[in-house]
Amino acid sequence: MDLKVLLELQAIDTHLNQLEHKRNALPERKALQLLQGQIIEHERLIVQLDAAIAQLESAFAEAEKSGNDCDAKRQRLEAQLRTVIAPREAESLQREIESLRQEREEADGMGLDLMEQLGEQEIARDNARKALAELEREKPARETALRDADARIDEEMRGDRQRRDAIAETTKDVLAEYESRRKHLGGVAVSALVGRTCSGCHLDLSAGELQQLKDLGGSADPECPNCGRWLVL
Ligand SMILES: [Zn+2]
Repeated sequence: MDLKVLLELQAIDTHLNQLEHKRNALPERKALQLLQGQIIEHERLIVQLDAAIAQLESAFAEAEKSGNDCDAKRQRLEAQLRTVIAPREAESLQREIESLRQEREEADGMGLDLMEQLGEQEIARDNARKALAELEREKPARETALRDADARIDEEMRGDRQRRDAIAETTKDVLAEYESRRKHLGGVAVSALVGRTCSGCHLDLSAGELQQLKDLGGSADPECPNCGRWLVL
């Protein structure tokens, strides 16, 4: 078997793996993911602010209604007071009128407080909406950048795969064994001998071991005695 061809195949496979890794780790992908995360965050914030604003609006309406109720009641009592002659009854009505006046003031105070909070929350929502629109505007450019970067890598991978297919065609009978070895030997099924060092495990072969492998001739495929990888002598 021509191990040199397998070495070439392996170089392509290694490159394909690197490209795959590069594709997954593209900064353009990270940038788009980051933007998508920020968009989701802002959408959530706006939903929260919508709910808070709705709650404040209903509390404000309630304060306003309770103020109006106090007024109506007080006006009734004031009318009643004008017809009362008994001093004790008049006094009791006056006390009640005063307490309603206080209640009305409290309701007004609460209304002002709620209005202030409402204003703050509305400003926060406006800001969040503006920020969201800004992020949304940025999205198409980032999507395009990622699509282009992906396309460049895909193009490179296509070239690799074409070369790989051509080589794989000539190594059909050992392809399964090659794949299995690659899987079990950290992606390196075939290694070259550099000097006396196996480039797969980086260990040196003794002169005797080397001679043994050379003596195999074509009878068997040489393997590194240390790591078991096919060895291109
Ligand atoms: Zn080795």
